[in-house]
Amino acid sequence: MKGIFPVNKLKAIKTPFYYYDTEILNKTIDAIKAATAHHPNYHVHYAVKANANPKLLGIIRRAGFGADCVSGGEIQAALNAGFSPDGIVYAGVGKSDWEINLGLDNGISCFNVESVAELEVINDLAAAKHAVAKVAIRVNPNVGAHTHANITTGLAENKFGIALEDLLPTIRRIGSMESISLVGLHFHIGSQILDMSDFVALCLKINEIQDDIEKEGFSVENINVGGGLGIDYECPDSNPIPDFEAYFSTYADNLKLRDGQQLHFELGRSIVGQCGTLITSVLYVKQGTYKQFAIVDAGMTDLIRPALYQAHHKIENISSDKPCHTYDVVGPICESSDVFEKGASLNKCSRGDLIAIRSAGAYGEIMASQYNCRSLPKGYVTEEI
Ligand SMILES: *Cc1c(COP(=O)(O)O)cnc(C)c1O
Repeated sequence: MKGIFPVNKLKAIKTPFYYYDTEILNKTIDAIKAATAHHPNYHVHYAVKANANPKLLGIIRRAGFGADCVSGGEIQAALNAGFSPDGIVYAGVGKSDWEINLGLDNGISCFNVESVAELEVINDLAAAKHAVAKVAIRVNPNVGAHTHANITTGLAENKFGIALEDLLPTIRRIGSMESISLVGLHFHIGSQILDMSDFVALCLKINEIQDDIEKEGFSVENINVGGGLGIDYECPDSNPIPDFEAYFSTYADNLKLRDGQQLHFELGRSIVGQCGTLITSVLYVKQGTYKQFAIVDAGMTDLIRPALYQAHHKIENISSDKPCHTYDVVGPICESSDVFEKGASLNKCSRGDLIAIRSAGAYGEIMASQYNCRSLPKGYVTEEI
């Protein structure tokens, strides 16, 4: 073992691959259950887009969570993993007809609708099946988040949701749609949010919105506040479990739910982020003119977050205890952005050493591509290695 890693077992597997520590995942799930135990009206849906590995989906489904999907493929993945349709919610700005029909045929619990044009299509498709579609209006609350610009979603300039000023007209419009039942309001302001004041701002905005719609005689059974809770990418060992107590109590303290109203959450990264590690091997150590490179066999095709969002993942050499050297840790892909970290301090690297790229359970394996005709990385959980 080095840290949390059973190095000898990992050595036997062809790199690069994802290693999922199920103990961390289970502890994370337990922490969510403990933090929501006193709130029977809180419902957690796992955001499948963070990681759809069937083994992880199975563990999360058995924990009793619902599923939050953003495509027909994800609805299918959730159904295949045994999630009950009445725990499945479905968001997305561009739902195709086949995806809407898949949701209708399986009786999912809610379509989170992002435009009036989409509402009309859902109404028509549901009518053709003599069904009634349950929908929540995804509202763009124009609430910012202290996170990377590419992962804010709740600003007026973002493509997501229905603008605040269009909310009441949209609710009225639904009144004349025979195959639509309005069951909720949905929000999601972004991802990797660690500043609870961003969620407070969302709560206060929702309170205002509820007051406004009630003045017009409308109300909804469900409020869905999306996901977005961040994880500690710098200190995965000392801080492996996100602060779910602080997260859920922020909502308990600031959101004014109406009598009987149910509160839904869609957590992705905070559930699976810390349990996953990308394991890769050092291929070559190369001394450049200015820098020393550790060239590894994983690339941006296996984990694109550093190239896409300048994200930082902690990197460790889990094969060596030699004194630290400074390396640019780079992959083999023919792109200059194929860099995991510049100036990383790692125990001295030699060819064949195993390198752990930490906190890669969310938006890692699922975003892998085959650019350069590479194979997709495999994912293994603790029990199968
Ligand atoms: C991505 C997404 C989530 C999950 O976000 P995390 O930051 O991973 O918790 C939840 N809801 C919607 C609508 C999303 O698009």
